[in-house]
Amino acid sequence: MQRHDINPRVLFGGFLLAAQSFPQRPAIEVDGEAVTYAQLREQVLAIAVGLTRHRSGEGPPLTAALVHRSVAGFAGILGALCSGHGYVPMLPSLPPARIVLMLHRSGARSLVVDAAGQRVLDEVLDGVEHPLLVVLTEGEADEQLRARHPRHRLIGRDELSRGGADDWTPPAVGDDDVAYLLFTSGSTGEPKGVMVAHRNIARFLDVVVSRYSLRETDRFSHLFEITFDLSLFDMFAAWKVGGCLCVPNMKQRLLPNQYVLDSQLSVWFSVPSAALLMKQMRALTPGVFANLRLVLFCGEALPVGLAQAFAEAAPDAVLENIYGPTELTLACTHYRWSASSPAECENEVVPIGDPFDGMTVKVVDEELSEVAAGETGELLMSGPQRALGYWNDPERTAAAFMIPPGETELFYRTGDRVRRPLWGAPMTFLGRVDSQIKLNGYRVELGEIEAIMQREAGVDAAVALGWPKTPAGASGVVGFVVGVEQGDMDGVIDRMQEQLPRYMVPREIRVLEGFPLNQNGKIDRKALLGVLEGEDGD
Ligand code: AMP
Repeated sequence: MQRHDINPRVLFGGFLLAAQSFPQRPAIEVDGEAVTYAQLREQVLAIAVGLTRHRSGEGPPLTAALVHRSVAGFAGILGALCSGHGYVPMLPSLPPARIVLMLHRSGARSLVVDAAGQRVLDEVLDGVEHPLLVVLTEGEADEQLRARHPRHRLIGRDELSRGGADDWTPPAVGDDDVAYLLFTSGSTGEPKGVMVAHRNIARFLDVVVSRYSLRETDRFSHLFEITFDLSLFDMFAAWKVGGCLCVPNMKQRLLPNQYVLDSQLSVWFSVPSAALLMKQMRALTPGVFANLRLVLFCGEALPVGLAQAFAEAAPDAVLENIYGPTELTLACTHYRWSASSPAECENEVVPIGDPFDGMTVKVVDEELSEVAAGETGELLMSGPQRALGYWNDPERTAAAFMIPPGETELFYRTGDRVRRPLWGAPMTFLGRVDSQIKLNGYRVELGEIEAIMQREAGVDAAVALGWPKTPAGASGVVGFVVGVEQGDMDGVIDRMQEQLPRYMVPREIRVLEGFPLNQNGKIDRKALLGVLEGEDGD
């Protein structure tokens, strides 16, 4: 294997160095089939060379990845990185209109697709006005496909050079360059792209590799979609240490306990909602997960009962609740579960604990003044994991990343309400200061759903609420509008389905005669929630 001078601080560096140290170890396992580091590296570098050779040089250094849980798809993501670009993850299951919107907003001029991505490619390419270079990592670009899309340049798998690895040279990538651009729900009706730099994610990976002593024998779960930043832990922590990313198939995703055992996982990482399913299925029997040595939860509030049950199911594992928004690079606080933890929990939720090494915490009131220890306020954080801001959106960047009074560094306003800990106590999570919610772990701005519902229903105001509630957040959305006929609502839901990820589409939209108002004359969301809760109790 040709050895290159690899910078370990760039996101693909860890993978290439692990491929040199552990060429014959499994890097990915899909459906029980393992691909070694050496094999994956060949595919990755062939894609990187293909991208570099054929792209026009126009546009930002970003490559979109329209892939789903295949080896070729992971190779596409790594290939995009090894070509010197940041990657922009997209899922083939998203409505094509949303994929097109993200391609336009990111300005990406190249796209890697696997077989799943290829199935929706026609519809996507029809909607993209600027010319794209499309690399098919799993299929061929036949004449018909090319003829249908004369605006775009299509490169099939067979055209990628066989000796890719020999033709590859390390690209010039700086620590401050964007490693990935991740679109999250935006309150004004449009998703916003969080720019995360190589140095941000390198810092996160250094902290977790050392804190959890991650190593080449570890077998990592992969329950997150690539559009969720927590997926970067699974992929890039595994590939930094020479471990194996164990990708569950459909059946295993429905029976996660079987997946832990079949795949002999040593590291479990999920949102609490995924594990709640196991608890509901009574699969968390004491001692069942004897192989797990690390259990991490992140992404939404962790209910005490779930932590307790999981700790008993995996008695030899270290269990931690980690916390963080995409803008602070996956996770930036940690809390280790122990026998004395129940006494430290607030509202039946496990604390979020202390900041990661190097990160700074401030808990502030509405005037951004620090509150006293023991009081509650909004959490602001700064440090090496603070991301660069929002893509092409200086206004929203300036609003969310700001220098609080008396400070000199930029802090990110998380919008999360926490209790500033008294000495020796862990920080606790109390909810949001705005209308962002978690739907089965997915971050959703209710405002984004409301903006689209309002437009599609042709009304002046619309309200979306997370319902039904779950111990960690909500599992669905219910909409409310006034001033239209109930009969029109099915069509509205259909049109919303064409624009939003499935989990954001309301299950039902109710037409009211008028919205209940609170003392300030604002729509009373609590009263609407009360209506749903009342029905639930009936
Ligand atoms: P995302 O950017 O999708 O990772 O969502 C970030 C938001 O998820 C945070 O601002 C919190 O509201 C919530 N969150 C993440 N981790 C936790 C946690 N451990 N406990 C409670 N809420 C969390």
